[in-house]
This record gives sequence, C-alpha cells and structure tokens, in this order.
Amino acid sequence: MKSQDIRAQFLSFFEAKKHTVVPSAPMVVKNDPTLMFVNAGMVPFKEYFLGNTKAKSSRITDSQKCLRVSGKHNDLEEVGYDTYHHTLFEMLGNWSFGDYFKEEAIAWAWELLTEVYKIDKDILYVTIFEGDAEDGTPMDTEAYDIWKKYIAEDRILKGNKKDNFWEMGDQGPCGPCSEIHVDIRSAEEKAKISGKDLVNADHPQVVEIWNLVFMQYNRKANGSLEALPNKHIDTGMGFERLCMVLQGVQSNYDTDVFTPLIREIETITNSKYGNSKTENNKTDVAIRVISDHVRAVAFSIADGQLPSNTGAGYVIRRILRRAVRYGFTFLNQKEPFIYKLVNVLSEKMGDAFPEMVSQKQLVENVIKEEEQSFLRTLDQGLVLLNRIVEETKGDTVSGEKAFELYDTYGFPIDLTALILSEKDLKLDEKGFEAELQKQKNRSRAASETSTDDWTVLIDDAEEEFIGYDALEANVKITRYRKTTSKKDGDMYQLVFNLTPFYAEGGGQVGDKGYLDVHGDVVYILDTKKENNVIVHFTKNLPKHLNESFKAVVNEGERYKTECNHTATHLLHQALRDILGTHVEQKGSAVNAKQLRFDFSHFSKLTEEELTDVEAFVNARIAEKLDLVEKRNVPKEEAIADGAMSLFGEKYGDTVRSIRFGQSIELCGGTHVKNTSDIWHFKIVSEGAVASGIRRIEAITNEAAQNLYFENSKAYSQMKALLNNAKEPVKALENLQEENTSLKKQIESLLKDKAKNIKGELKSEITEVNGVNFLAKKLDLDAAGLKDVAFELGGEINNLFLLFGSEQDGKALLTCYISKELVAEKDLNAGKVVRELGKLIQGGGGGQPFFATAGGRNPEGIADALEKAKDYIG
Ligand code: ATP
Ligand code: MG
Repeated sequence: MKSQDIRAQFLSFFEAKKHTVVPSAPMVVKNDPTLMFVNAGMVPFKEYFLGNTKAKSSRITDSQKCLRVSGKHNDLEEVGYDTYHHTLFEMLGNWSFGDYFKEEAIAWAWELLTEVYKIDKDILYVTIFEGDAEDGTPMDTEAYDIWKKYIAEDRILKGNKKDNFWEMGDQGPCGPCSEIHVDIRSAEEKAKISGKDLVNADHPQVVEIWNLVFMQYNRKANGSLEALPNKHIDTGMGFERLCMVLQGVQSNYDTDVFTPLIREIETITNSKYGNSKTENNKTDVAIRVISDHVRAVAFSIADGQLPSNTGAGYVIRRILRRAVRYGFTFLNQKEPFIYKLVNVLSEKMGDAFPEMVSQKQLVENVIKEEEQSFLRTLDQGLVLLNRIVEETKGDTVSGEKAFELYDTYGFPIDLTALILSEKDLKLDEKGFEAELQKQKNRSRAASETSTDDWTVLIDDAEEEFIGYDALEANVKITRYRKTTSKKDGDMYQLVFNLTPFYAEGGGQVGDKGYLDVHGDVVYILDTKKENNVIVHFTKNLPKHLNESFKAVVNEGERYKTECNHTATHLLHQALRDILGTHVEQKGSAVNAKQLRFDFSHFSKLTEEELTDVEAFVNARIAEKLDLVEKRNVPKEEAIADGAMSLFGEKYGDTVRSIRFGQSIELCGGTHVKNTSDIWHFKIVSEGAVASGIRRIEAITNEAAQNLYFENSKAYSQMKALLNNAKEPVKALENLQEENTSLKKQIESLLKDKAKNIKGELKSEITEVNGVNFLAKKLDLDAAGLKDVAFELGGEINNLFLLFGSEQDGKALLTCYISKELVAEKDLNAGKVVRELGKLIQGGGGGQPFFATAGGRNPEGIADALEKAKDYIG
C-alpha cells in the first residue's frame, strides 16, 4: 500500500467514527514559552487539555508534522544511525476532548490495525502502566482488562513510568499510556529470542508504532496528582513506522516516503545506498541523515521559520549543518547539493503538503545559501585547525582549543576529531566536554525559571479581551502565580476577567500600562499569550487582590504601535503592487518605535522602487482611509472578500479581517481608526535577511517627525559650514575634489622627499663583513620607510637595513635584508624585528626579507639600532 493511501485510510477510519478531520498545524510554536516546535500531535490542542479554550469538536483526527530536535524530545543525534527515528515525522492521531475514553480508544486502535490494515495479531505487543510506588500512582488495571479482550495476556506487558506514563511538563494534565509495538523480524530471528524481551529495548525491528495516552490526572507544582474532571484521549502513531510495517520492509528509509529522496542523493553524489553489509556503514548513515534532515529543514522554512542565529532558527540551522557535514565528510560533497533535493520533496509530498509546492523556490534558495555559508565556515575552520595542529606540541590537541574552534567558528567537533585522527593526533575529548559543560552551566543558570501553581481567586472565570474598543477597564484578578528566574528575579503573572491589554502576537508587541486600586499602583511590564490565556506581567503583586482594579493601557505607546501596524499592512500592499504578487510576508515586528517587515523577493530594491513604495504608502495615508473591521467572520467569507492569510499562522474557524481601502488582511492586531493618523511613512533601511528574503525597516508618526527635524537641523548646520552656499551639494563636491587633488600633491611631495633621503642614505651605507649595512632613525611613516627600503634594495646588493622611526609617540622598526643574504647567511628580518621589537616594547613580524614591528617605547629605538650590527657580526 502506498504511503498516501495509508494516511488517507487512517483519517477516513476515524472520520467514520465521527471525528472531525483537521489539517496539520504549523510546526513552529507560538505563544508557548515551554516549546519551540510541535513535538507531538497533542501540542496544537494543548489549550483544550488545559481547559483554557473549549474544543470546537470533541473528536478530532489529523496527521501532524512533528519535529523532535530540542528540549524533552530530542532525537537528533540518533537520526541516521538507527532506521526508525526521524527529526521530522508525521504523527497520526485521534483525539477525545472529554468525550470517549479508554474502552473506545483501545477498541478502535485494534480494529484499525488488525481489520483495516490487516496487521497480523501475532506480531503485536501492547504495554500498560505498572504503577509507581514512589508517588502512589496506581497500575492501569482498567487498560489491562480492556486489552485482554483483544490480545493474548502474555502479549500484554507492564511498563514503568518512563515508557508508560505521559506528562505534558512538570505540571499539568498527564496520565498512563498503552503503547502498541510490532515485531517484524524473520521467523528465524524470532526463534532465537522472543519479541517480548525486545520490546522497548531499542531493537530496530521491534518498535513502538502507536501510543495511546489516557489523560486522567493533573500534576500540581508540588508533584501531587489530582483527578481531572474531564478525561481525554490523545493518541499518536508514527506514520513512517506504520508504512514500514505495511510495506513489508525493515527500515523506515526503505518505504516510499524516503526512497525517492535516497535515489536522488545517490545520483547527485554518485554513491550507493545499502551496498555494504556492515551496519552503520558511513555512506548509508550519511544518506539517511541527509534524506531525513532535508525534510525537516524544508518544512520548517515553508512554515516560515528561517535558519538564524537564535532560538528556533538556530535549531533549524544546526540540523542543516549536520546534513552538510555528513555530505562533506562521507560523501565528499564540497559544493552545495542538498537544495537540489527540494524538487523531489515537492513532487512527492506536494499532494499532502501543498506548501512544499508553493514555497519551493524560496526553500531551495534559502537552503543553498545556508549550505554555501557553512561550507565557507568549514574551509576557514580547516585553516584554523591546521594552525592549531602546527602549534601543538606532543600528540594531543587541547580540549580548550577545540572548543574555541567549535564555539566561535561553529566548526563541528566530530570533524575536528576526524581530521586529527587522520593526522595521527588525539583530541582531549574530556577537556572539550568540560568546556562544553561549563558553557551549558552558564546558560542554564541564566535561564532557569521556577513557576508556582496558579492561585485561583475566581473559579471557572472566563476571560474577555476588550482592547479593540477600550484602553481602560475595571477588572478583577481571576488567578495569579509567581515565577522566579536569575534574569528577572521574582515576577508575577496575572489573569483578569476582562482586559484591555493586547497580548504580544501577530508581530505586535504586548501592551504596557498599570493597575490601580485605592492609589496602589502596579505597573504592567508586558502582556503575553500563553496557550490562549492573556497573561499580564508585573514585578509586584497588587495588595488588594480581591478587589476591582482600574486597568489602564499606556495609550501613547499603543497609539504609536498602531500607526506602525497599519503602516505594515499598507507596506505589504505597496510591495505586492510595485514588485509583484510573488511578495509574501515572512515575518514582522511592530512596536512603538518602528516597524520591521520581512518578505520574499529575489533582488535588492532599487532607489526608485523604494521611493515608489514610500510614495504608495503615503498616498494611502493622504487618502484618509477608514478602518473597516470585521470580527468573528467565517474564514472562508473573509478570504472570499479578498483577505490575505499568512502561511504558517494558525487561524481559528472564525477570523478578524482588517481593511483599509484595498488592503485586506486577516489580523488580530490593533490599528488606527484612519490612515491619516499615521501622519507619514519613511523607510529607514532595506536589506537581505536570507537568500530570497528582504527586510524593510520603517518609521511613522512621531519617529518620522523627529527624523525630519533632526535631518533639517543637520542640513542647516552643514549649509552654514559651507558658508551658506546656494548649492550646498555642489559646494561639497567641490570640497571633495579639492581634497583629492591635495592628497595627490602630498603623495608626490613625500615621494620626492624619499628620493632625496635615498641619495643621502646611500652615502651612509658601510660595508661590514661583506654586507652593505645601515641602521638609522628616519622621520618617515611606515609606508615611507618601506618605500625607501625597497628603493635601496633595488639598487644595492647584499643589503641589511634597519630603520627606526617615531610617529605620534609610537615606535616603528623596519628591517630589510637582500634575498641572497637571507639564503646564504641564514638571516631573517622577521626574527630581527621580533627580537629587537622587545626593546621598543612591542612586537611584529613579516617575511624573511622584509618585516616591521611597532611598539610603545620610542626611547628603545636607539638601542635597537645599536644592536642591529650584532646580526651580521
Ligand atoms: P521511541 O521510544 O521509539 O523513541 P517515543 O516513546 O518517543 O518512541 P511517543 O512520544 O510515544 O514515542 O510518540 C508516539 C509515536 O510517534 C511513537 O509510537 C512512534 O511511532 C512515533 N515516533 C516517536 N518518535 C519518533 C521519531 N523520532 N521518528 C519517527 N517516529 C517517531
Ligand atoms: Mg522517543
């Protein structure tokens, strides 16, 4: 069965059981401080499990793109070495939010596997939670009794907390789980050892395919459990592993999910996959790594996450670099090649994931550029590593040096180790690990945060956002909690029954402001959304927690932010109008000071285009367009109106649309009431963020005014300096020309001076031991000294020169030695200046025939000149 059909059957099976089929959510997580990427199917539904939002349907099924490369689930280093862990994989899931529970979840899983997919019962094992004496959680006898109805009891295994108890984090919903494992070994292998003994033992053909989680508890901050009022089902089946079983192969990489990619890699790199019988043959590992990683990186970029130096972007960069490194080292790829695989990816996966088709060009460009830049890093790193090798005494390179190379140059440590071993050198791995640990401890200490339980003041309170219409309200605190971190110290998070504060989102910063009750004022420093709850951050806890507070948003900041946000929409429209509709928003950041807008476009904007864009936006401002806002309209309706939706954004079923004239966008942010409020729009910079992605930064309103005043002041001052010239630009050009010609004159005068000096110096050269020798202090700068030295050297053989000079209180030494002397007498100018440089308290170097040194002590020049004779004596 083809993988496409396997996925479709899963979804239609659960659709028939009254589940709503939903598309995969974007992989990059927003609004959740604990997580960068979706790492399990349940993540997009977290707010339902936490009870923050009511699920729109109590039964849902989907195939979710998951990425396990950071935090609690990190499979990155395994990928390539085994045949069943990926960075990016699809998790097929069925969900019950307070609807059906264990009985149905188990029955349906069994029905699907054995009757629809027709997997032989005799290759299946299931596990249940055995209980935990330490924290008193009981064994899951309920699940055991249900499984008994379907499978022989000797195939039901008991497992511990690690494998059979699922938790969202340190706190929150959790519960026991049942895993379903397959044993796809040959009969011969099975005869040797029972599958039972290989479950959860990292055997590549005895693997877990499905996990059924029974969410029935809530874990509190003190570690204790309480029963959840509503029980939920969360299941996750690894799609690629299921394909392996149903396609009768022994490795995920032999399924049709991967084989097209692998064939392409073989062609491009002229290598062969699966040729060697030895396990973990390096070519095979490299091909698995690359075929896996290109998927992860391509899907992330398509989801709007570009490689970068921080956060989620950095994780993506590291995955791609790992792939480049394996290609570089084991497939001998010294030029970019991974980007070439995007074509196959979009052909084979475009049906299920249309973004891979629409974003193909961008994905290719970004990957190619990343590859190029990392290959350059590798080149540079190799040079540095060679230098380290040269300086190394003995047979071991210090961990500290290797760490420096790794930390500041991003040069991979395994590559360092490999290259060293080729040179018969060792790497002090322990020393390296120690340095790495030190760095980890430093960053951990900086980011460690502890979070208390919520203290609930009002039970089952709903929270309402009223900040589109009001900047002030009387509010009550419904719950609060304390967080403590090294960075911020103690902070409080407050939730209100209603709030005018806008929570950071859609590129717009969170509101600031204050709370006031009886003159007790507490400042709100930031507002953020966490799993769909609006959280207000304060440094102090208000005194009268149970009373009504006046909550006031900082109006000035909000207003300026709104000017920038509306201008961002107009800018988006301008770019599509002027550059073309290939322009897509790739990110934005809007605050009171400025706006930033990233978008796809393949070349630098010309001066003319930038002027046109500014003029376009300012024309919309001049048109005084009113805000037309539609709240809670069905998404389809808004799209039909012509609203632009952004890829990689998670939208609900109903949306809010924002229109100013012809600009219509789906947007949750806040905006001015009329475009004339913006006053003026001015671009301050335009540049590249990545290949095919440009960034414009711009200002509006007060910032634009300030810029105007500053510029006009500077202009007046400049004009005054130019004696109020009528045409200041012309006057400046004249000055520049004059300056250039003066510089030329000085240069030629200096040349003449050097010539004269040369004549004098020639007469001062004396012969010592067959060497033409001169040591003298001159009044010339470094370039002058060099000129004179080379001029003399061109005319006189067997020459040894040492010149000293004092310039701006610093000392200079210049040594010139004819090449024949270097060869015959083993003289070395570099060595001379290094040694004599000490006398002027400095150092230097150069080549054997010419070298210079600089130092702090002009007093030492005379000594140095005195010592020069020793070299030829
Ligand atoms: P394993 O022990 O094999 O790493 P897990 O316990 O981490 O699996 P779960 O967190 O329960 O897995 O995830 C549910 C399902 O997702 C698993 O049964 C498996 O089929 C699949 N899965 C988990 N991790 C990966 C991965 N890195 N690559 C591919 N599939 C995976
Ligand atoms: Mg795992």
